[in-house]
Amino acid sequence: MTPDPLSLPAIHASHVGIWIADATGRVQRVGRGEAIAAVAATPHLLLNAPLTGDRLGYPELSGLDLLELFAFLYPARFAVPTPAGIGAALDLTPPSAEADIAAFLPHATAAMLASLDDRDWPEREGAWHGAQALARQRWPWAPLIQPRLAKPDRDDRWLFARLPEWEEPPPRAAPRQVAIDAGDVAARLDRLTGDAAERRPGQQDYARAAAAIFAPRDRKDAPQMLVAEAGTGIGKTLGYLAPAKQWIDQSAGAICISTYTKALQRQLARETEKLYPDAATHREKVVVRKGRENYLCLLNLEDALQGGFSGRAAILAQLVARWAAYTRDGDMVGGDLPGWLPALFRRNGTTALTDRRGECIYAGCPHFRKCFIERSARAATQADIVIANHALTMVQAARPRESAGTAATRLIFDEGHHLWDAADSMFAAALTGQEAVEIRRWVLGPEGKSRGRRRGLAARLADVASYDEAGDRAIQAAIAAAAELPGDGWLGRLAENDPWGAIERLLAAARGQVYARSVDTRGADTGYGLETELADPDPALVAAAASASDAIEALLRPLLALGKRLEALIEDPPDWLDGQARARVDGARHSLGTRIDTLGGWLSLLGRVGGPADPDFVDWLAVDRYDGREFDCGLHRHWLDPARPVADIVYAQAQGVLVTSATLRSGHRGGANGTGGWAEADIRTGARHMDGGVRHFAVPSPFDYARQAEVLIVTDIARGDLPALAGAYSRLIEAAGGGALGLFSAIRRLRFVHARIADRLARAGLPLFAQHVDPLDTGTLIDIFRADPHTSLLGTDALRDGVDVPGDSLRLVVMEGVPWPRPTILHAARRAAQGGSAYDDMVIRGRIAQAFGRLIRRADDFGQFVMLSPSFPSRLLSAFPENTPIRRLPLDEAVNHVAAANVERRKSAFRAFSPS
Ligand code: SF4
Repeated sequence: MTPDPLSLPAIHASHVGIWIADATGRVQRVGRGEAIAAVAATPHLLLNAPLTGDRLGYPELSGLDLLELFAFLYPARFAVPTPAGIGAALDLTPPSAEADIAAFLPHATAAMLASLDDRDWPEREGAWHGAQALARQRWPWAPLIQPRLAKPDRDDRWLFARLPEWEEPPPRAAPRQVAIDAGDVAARLDRLTGDAAERRPGQQDYARAAAAIFAPRDRKDAPQMLVAEAGTGIGKTLGYLAPAKQWIDQSAGAICISTYTKALQRQLARETEKLYPDAATHREKVVVRKGRENYLCLLNLEDALQGGFSGRAAILAQLVARWAAYTRDGDMVGGDLPGWLPALFRRNGTTALTDRRGECIYAGCPHFRKCFIERSARAATQADIVIANHALTMVQAARPRESAGTAATRLIFDEGHHLWDAADSMFAAALTGQEAVEIRRWVLGPEGKSRGRRRGLAARLADVASYDEAGDRAIQAAIAAAAELPGDGWLGRLAENDPWGAIERLLAAARGQVYARSVDTRGADTGYGLETELADPDPALVAAAASASDAIEALLRPLLALGKRLEALIEDPPDWLDGQARARVDGARHSLGTRIDTLGGWLSLLGRVGGPADPDFVDWLAVDRYDGREFDCGLHRHWLDPARPVADIVYAQAQGVLVTSATLRSGHRGGANGTGGWAEADIRTGARHMDGGVRHFAVPSPFDYARQAEVLIVTDIARGDLPALAGAYSRLIEAAGGGALGLFSAIRRLRFVHARIADRLARAGLPLFAQHVDPLDTGTLIDIFRADPHTSLLGTDALRDGVDVPGDSLRLVVMEGVPWPRPTILHAARRAAQGGSAYDDMVIRGRIAQAFGRLIRRADDFGQFVMLSPSFPSRLLSAFPENTPIRRLPLDEAVNHVAAANVERRKSAFRAFSPS
């Protein structure tokens, strides 16, 4: 039974209007001014203060936010942060109209507060303690919670007492060399797909092909390698999991599956439950791993709880502490921390709770034995299946000393079409102001009024500085050299042409050259950045680079010496090196290695200034700006072909590698029976650099695209005509009845279109959300989109790949135009090296194929893909699956097509639910 509603006023604001329910539950539609006066006078119940404030035009809005209460009461539980989503999470009937939402909020609040009286409330432990701390922070919910929450009789274990300690596991033995039998793989796949499932020949063929990577390797540096394209709907995940599990069982080995998006990591974690149906075994055998910057750092949290944070950030820290006691793995980004929680606090402080800046002191940390990152690293050494992302997989291959335990010998790269982009970031070097400031802080510690526990090298290694002469000499030399790196206020000094130290002088010279040589492309959709090639540098830059190299070498030398000294101390420990000191030395060794690598990269980049170009790299100078404001500048180096280090460093270490995706050949199949196009795939994946022979395999999608999909190329919306673009989006979304995903290449145009059409669509009962507009993270926006088939979503690149929305919620994709690559220096160099416009076509086809791939995820999906482009090149049509009907037509006709499909959809839904 739902408890009586709370006697508090509530407000709901949307693009349609504003409603206030008074304390008796009487609802009134009000104007903006009246609403703002009411909420300023009395705290109201509301759901998502930043979003409601946005709709009210009152960004300072505060009140009793139901989402904060939800986060306190049900930490680590999932809920879509909408009235319907909260209703579903609480098992309440959600409001059926916008006008009913304000009156619904007091009911939902009462239902939530009733948990406090429920003896079986699973998250009771720690709540009393948390509520006391939140009351001290003047959290508006505290007075409503505290009287209902009795002080626990027994010890109310607080976060740090509650978390388990990890154990140091024994090293895992190398896998046995075994050959797996094709019949066993087929039988296992049958078991995984279920006896009742219809046998899918494409999936069986795929599984058989994937099994080849588990055969013993013939020679060193030449893994068994397969590049495999499996069209959407083949069931490729189980297709590779079947041979993988067969091999794991026979060899006692471990595999690593690497993905690009967090969405696929989550999906894979769910799919592997079929391999290990028992939940405890699954937790032990399958570990999801991400970069350390994703996880909560307990030491940072402790600092935040003990006064490091104030105001709203301190409240967030308390809610995160509640979550930390119940989380599965401490993953704050895409894990079980609701993505909407940091957004409620306008991201105030969440980054300071992770180990973003590499400040970890490892074994010197009092929470080391409970640390989520360390636990996940150790769990990964024992797991059969590690689900990582491409960036982490590459880091571990490139810097094995940073990863605990033996690396998996079999690697499966899913979303293999993204290897190129992941490698492009991973193997790049950037000598910029912000990067240099980070290294300076790491050596010297915080300057000025910066808060937190950051400490410099001398403080972290106080024992070494006191008792070891050589170590102290190295530390002091590093401190003296780090003073040459940019410090606080460097951007201002550059703007005033008053740089301090060798690196700031280098940055000033680079900045001067960028402004002198680049074309200001603001307003031309290039993200406001300015850049120029590092060719024929002016003498001032050459001279500055020489001094900067000296300064960097002056820092690198003592750091190398310190590294050696620390190694020696560990190998031959002196008397003063007790357990704690050893832990600190161990911690410093870890972080030292990363800095040494970075400085080495900078030196080779500087060595290029004024000298001959290295044909393997593209070097340039850039000033990074947003809305005309500079935030960084410096020198950049990327591999011309970033897949090369992937082959040399990552693949070569493995014994078996599968690179797979639905769109590896980006639609360019050619050859007999569509078997060609591998040259493109081999470029993008780095397979062309493997001299041991690479197998290829492709299986087309089982979907009937002729029946399930339609491509509409709209020919009468001119590029650059923003009002016409907005009108087209609005009409198409209305015709579809929502369920549309709108993709943009530029944030500016996305915002323009959203501002023009959101109100109008909302009045038609079609909510519209947008990345870069609504104060919600991308994952939450997708959750909202998925939950309501009338909702539409506008977004940029991240949405092109990360959205997996099977069924009715996604039935229309609208692309604002051909997604041409940005004309950057890096792009121009790659284009020149790889066949000019053919390279562009490959990139564009890949992007379109990915966007189209969002549409049809199941055999019963139907979807339309609209491209707003008056001159869409025919050569790009191969981006769409074969047999997909493609029509070029004016907007009016496209709208008719979309409307007709919507009518048909509603009819079939009606037939499905009508008694025969
Ligand atoms: S070990 Fe490092 S990351 Fe973990 S809690 Fe301590 S400082 Fe944070």
